[in-house]
Amino acid sequence: MSAAPGQSDFHVHTSFCDGRDTAEAVVQSALSLGMKRLGFSGHAHTPFDPAACMSPEATEEYKREIARLREKYKGQIEIFCGVEQDYFSDLPTEDYDYVIGSVHYLYGGGDYHCVDWTADRLRAMIDRCFGGDPYAMAEAYFRQEADIVRKTNASVIGHFDLLTKFSEQDPLFDEEHPRYVAASNAALDALLKTGRPFEINTGAISRGYRTTPYPSLRLLRRIAERGGQVILSSDSHQADTLCFRFEECRALIGSLGLNLCQMPFPAKA
Ligand SMILES: [Zn+2]
Ligand SMILES: [Zn+2]
Repeated sequence: MSAAPGQSDFHVHTSFCDGRDTAEAVVQSALSLGMKRLGFSGHAHTPFDPAACMSPEATEEYKREIARLREKYKGQIEIFCGVEQDYFSDLPTEDYDYVIGSVHYLYGGGDYHCVDWTADRLRAMIDRCFGGDPYAMAEAYFRQEADIVRKTNASVIGHFDLLTKFSEQDPLFDEEHPRYVAASNAALDALLKTGRPFEINTGAISRGYRTTPYPSLRLLRRIAERGGQVILSSDSHQADTLCFRFEECRALIGSLGLNLCQMPFPAKA
């Protein structure tokens, strides 16, 4: 873990959802890195995935704890209470500081299926719900993704191409296939019109699945060409991965001519 003086990270999970560490342990880590702003983004409740998401009761406890930490560490670090709202999350988001809108599940065959649990689970879903056609799965994924800002009122677009999590180690489809390219481009172009920033998300790198962030280089180039904005996110599930590989991402942003923006809300006093 390297120092991150003055940096910010707004995609951070804790033991309130599927993260390893307590929120206060994460704050301590952020302080030790010299971070300036820290945003928590617990997985919002979904009715079908209690293991990964906050229950309604845990959601209230989460808000109280982040508010307590915000007061306790005032003057040392600015703390924000956000949420990672899934396409199928069912609780309101109005009282959060910001919303990361993410697609984690597809619905098919009477059930919800996680796209980023394991490659075998994703393969089984493609077989069961899409007749073994991975491009039909990708088209369904990107149809949902294209709608994520409207559905969740996201301030930030989370891991745009999460379905590629296993593409380096156990590829299930070709990201250069014309159907994949068409589906991903259509969703990207629809979301560019919203003006919301896309995450450059290093969470799958810190967890050992990928060597590059989401979204792919091809998609980042398209965001750059069309004047879209990006924001850096670690998608941390433990306290020691805050701002993970952000320096490399800044170099990538510079080389592609991407617009790096700050979280789109005013800092709270
Ligand atoms: Zn996510
Ligand atoms: Zn996340």
